[in-house]
Amino acid sequence: KEASDYFMLTDGFVKSELKKREKFAHKGTHGRALVMAGSYGKMGAAVLCAKAALRTGVGLLTMNIPRCGYNIMQSVVPEAMVLPDEGDHFLTSYGDVSKFDALGIGPGIGQEQETVYSLMQVVQAFGKPLVIDADGLNIIAQHREILEVLPSKTILTPHPKEFERLAGKWSDDFERLEKLVAFASENDVIVVLKGAHTSIALPTGEVYFNSSGNPGMASGGTGDVLTGMITSLLAQGYLPEYAAKVGVYLHGVAGDLAAEVTGQIGMIASDLIDFIPDAYQNIR
Ligand code: AMP
Ligand code: MG
Repeated sequence: KEASDYFMLTDGFVKSELKKREKFAHKGTHGRALVMAGSYGKMGAAVLCAKAALRTGVGLLTMNIPRCGYNIMQSVVPEAMVLPDEGDHFLTSYGDVSKFDALGIGPGIGQEQETVYSLMQVVQAFGKPLVIDADGLNIIAQHREILEVLPSKTILTPHPKEFERLAGKWSDDFERLEKLVAFASENDVIVVLKGAHTSIALPTGEVYFNSSGNPGMASGGTGDVLTGMITSLLAQGYLPEYAAKVGVYLHGVAGDLAAEVTGQIGMIASDLIDFIPDAYQNIR
């Protein structure tokens, strides 16, 4: 690969891509997002994802969750609408996705057979680039035929273990980068490989390395926050490539601003969400 295929995500780069709010905007202007998340014992992932999507600026958010999460979501995130699934403990189907601008799927969904079928079918029914994370990725690793029906430029956000399940083991960082680039181009997807320097691979072979963030973010739920943020940006009309880049960078800035107050050790994913508005102000 050419050195010219590698880029660093910086303040200036992201700032130039941020969309402004128009005076005559209404909530419909800022997009409708649907997130399929949560299962019994993992509703926290859905809640974090929902709050992050809202703080990132989506106009209208609908959460498609199993019934056990209904009261939780309505009380903890009153800004979100809830589309409860028929299943009590995990997602067993999917709703009408045609009216949504963006779809995010995966945080806390588990890997029950009915959830697998729902994911397989909804990615095709949606037909536009979507965001897939967490157990959504683990499901794809187990059912590789789904890779063939993913809409072009779908955004996958694995952490290293999830990426290993998708792409196989690597022996060093160089080989991992090779696998990342190959996976993105072979499957025509955008892969956000998360970690200390999250790397975003585009189907074209370009790779963007993130420069924001800190190890305080290495705790439960921060990945679910990122999924909500990228889904929110997609709904607001960012092209998939920019939704991924802006989302990853903003997520890291929010983590850095949170750490200034909480320190890295005591920081939790909810703190990061609280600092998303400041992150926007900071890079504006
Ligand atoms: P997940 O493993 O899905 O919860 O995602 C963890 C999130 O925290 C990702 O956005 C990572 O990029 C971020 N993260 C994890 N470890 C670090 C680190 N050492 N430095 C910066 N960000 C990190
Ligand atoms: Mg995760």
